[in-house]
Amino acid sequence: MAASEAAMTIERVPLHPANRAPLAPEFPWPEGHKAAMFLSVDVDAETAWTCKDPARFSELVTMSFGGYEARVGVPKLLELLRQESLRATFFVTGWSVEAHPAMAEAILRDGHEIAHHGFHHLMPQPGDPMLVEEIDRGLEVLKRRLGVVPVGYRAPLGESCEELRVLLKQRGLIYSSSWRDDVRPYRHLLDDGTPGLIELPVTMTYDDWLYGLSHRYSPRPMFPREHVLSLWQDELAETRDWGGMVTTVLHPQVSGRPMRLRLLRSFLRHTREYGDVWIATGQEIAAHFATCEAKAG
Ligand SMILES: [Zn+2]
Repeated sequence: MAASEAAMTIERVPLHPANRAPLAPEFPWPEGHKAAMFLSVDVDAETAWTCKDPARFSELVTMSFGGYEARVGVPKLLELLRQESLRATFFVTGWSVEAHPAMAEAILRDGHEIAHHGFHHLMPQPGDPMLVEEIDRGLEVLKRRLGVVPVGYRAPLGESCEELRVLLKQRGLIYSSSWRDDVRPYRHLLDDGTPGLIELPVTMTYDDWLYGLSHRYSPRPMFPREHVLSLWQDELAETRDWGGMVTTVLHPQVSGRPMRLRLLRSFLRHTREYGDVWIATGQEIAAHFATCEAKAG
């Protein structure tokens, strides 16, 4: 790109914040809770690997990372949640529901929320012809296979764009959980000035993928429980003091591994020991936000 072209491009960056939503309102959490934890899980299965290159479907050991979810990871995670009497939100890709229907049905049978996570786990990008198909095909399979009309959406690979924000609203989704810019829920403001979805923000701090997975495409040492617990507990302690919320981003191909599940059990018990952290699904937190917002009128 010539220097003049580059200058033209940078000149087009608008002189306003990328996110023009008003600040998050300071609504109280229900029943005297001091803070909240959105307990959420991303079930990508093999789409975590095929989304960047479909040819990887022939790399069977690479695929087996994803396959672990249906065979072991999800069942063990469901068992842990049953033992701890906790309900979570599972963001499941449409492909995973088609390929592993019994896994998806087991999540539903245990009373967890099933939410939208794309179909092939493709990163949403403006102008991408797959953008609409990813949403509509995901909605179609959740309805046909599970009878679920999801209210929540998490962007695959954690990216978003204005076209997607508008589309999610048009398709009737209630909340998104993808953005990184707050510690409390807030209401999106679309570029046309109308309200968008409720955002339940996330942070990389609680993305287990960073700490617990090493593979061909990114070989690296894994973090031991002491390190991960230290990060997770410190973030929670301070967020609780602020009266905010934390959002877990757990992948059963990571947190469903024996060592990681043990660590997750410790963290969940630690969280419950506070006695005033509301551990909830995305649907519950979004509904609470909507009720407070309506009252504040
Ligand atoms: Zn994902």
